[in-house]
Amino acid sequence: MYGKIKEHLQNELKSIEEAGLFKRERVIVSPQDATIVLADGKEVLNFCANNYLGLSSHPLLIKAAEDALKTHGFGMSSVRFICGTADMHKELEQKIATFFGTEDTLLYAACFDANGGIFEPLFSEADAIISDSLNHASIIDGVRLCKAQRFRYANADMADLEVQLQNARDCRFKVIVTDGVFSMDGNVAPVDKICQLADQYDALVMVDECHSAGVVGKTGRGVTELYNIRGKVDIITGTLGKAFGGAIGGFTTGRREIIEMLRQRSRPYLFSNSLPPMITQAGIAMFDMMAETSALQDKLHENTDYFRTEIMKAGFTIKPSASAIVAIMLYDARLSQEFAAQLLEEGIYVIGFYYPVVPKGEARIRVQLSAAHSREHLDRALSAFVKVGKALKVIR
Ligand SMILES: *Cc1c(COP(=O)(O)O)cnc(C)c1O
Repeated sequence: MYGKIKEHLQNELKSIEEAGLFKRERVIVSPQDATIVLADGKEVLNFCANNYLGLSSHPLLIKAAEDALKTHGFGMSSVRFICGTADMHKELEQKIATFFGTEDTLLYAACFDANGGIFEPLFSEADAIISDSLNHASIIDGVRLCKAQRFRYANADMADLEVQLQNARDCRFKVIVTDGVFSMDGNVAPVDKICQLADQYDALVMVDECHSAGVVGKTGRGVTELYNIRGKVDIITGTLGKAFGGAIGGFTTGRREIIEMLRQRSRPYLFSNSLPPMITQAGIAMFDMMAETSALQDKLHENTDYFRTEIMKAGFTIKPSASAIVAIMLYDARLSQEFAAQLLEEGIYVIGFYYPVVPKGEARIRVQLSAAHSREHLDRALSAFVKVGKALKVIR
């Protein structure tokens, strides 16, 4: 009988709407790229995708996916340990390990699954998980599925992390968990300092590189390249759904025994279908390209530096960061929505974020740069920002 819950859900949905928190999805009818076409036929410049390297519609990846359809078919119809492991899964896992300088890798259907399946096989009541307060929802859910004791430290706050490490002193194993880049401010976690504290307090380090892998560090090898600490992070999780092609797929890469234990015990790995050949082969082609050239990283870093410099010159306030995310602060929720709406009129697609996605009074426009953006794209966006900024009296 659907009756009773139907009314309840209608009321809940209404209150979400009244609170201004109802999520509406904008439909895109073109491939994901620097310019996209919306359902009404309007072409806009896209500054809100995780398409950091511009690979979402890259010919090399499309070709690899097409080839795999011919050689390995459409789907695997199995989990990995029954009959769902293809030669190319093994190859991609090796390529990911080589890219990050780690010992072994395990593929998942998504990084949400990688994070959901990492803690429970490794840690129990006797252990401690020490987690940054702004970590991604999938880390929070993964921690919930595990019986280890939980400790939380304020975002990127090393003094607070040290307090929590002291609180967790008597636990058997300790692991410090952080996003590599936090998606709302774009700030990079101080993983160099985290590793120092981890050494001092005998803790493991896990970094979720979803927004940092492919982006951060001179050749995009992520936070361990940025801080020159390759091989020091015990566990790295990441996605194939952002910089690395944008389709789907996740991975955990790191110490040999940890990965082997996940292969034996990680539930989203054991009880969920394996990655389709198209995705896997495109991933291999992508990492082969990364091994050859860091031209896309050079372009992305150049674009990010340029946009950051010019938007500050125009008088906007931004959050400091070394990632491809630029948070342009407006502080007022309504203003952030009006600003984004007017930018769309100008052909610039960005999203305004406000409480509870970001703290109260910290509403902002988030801009995500891509290697796919040309200088002309950036200049168009910058002049639209100036025009709307003046109209709405954010800048003079
Ligand atoms: C996007 C993201 C995820 C989820 O990745 P999927 O592969 O899309 O499931 C996990 N962690 C962080 C930090 C992310 O930004």
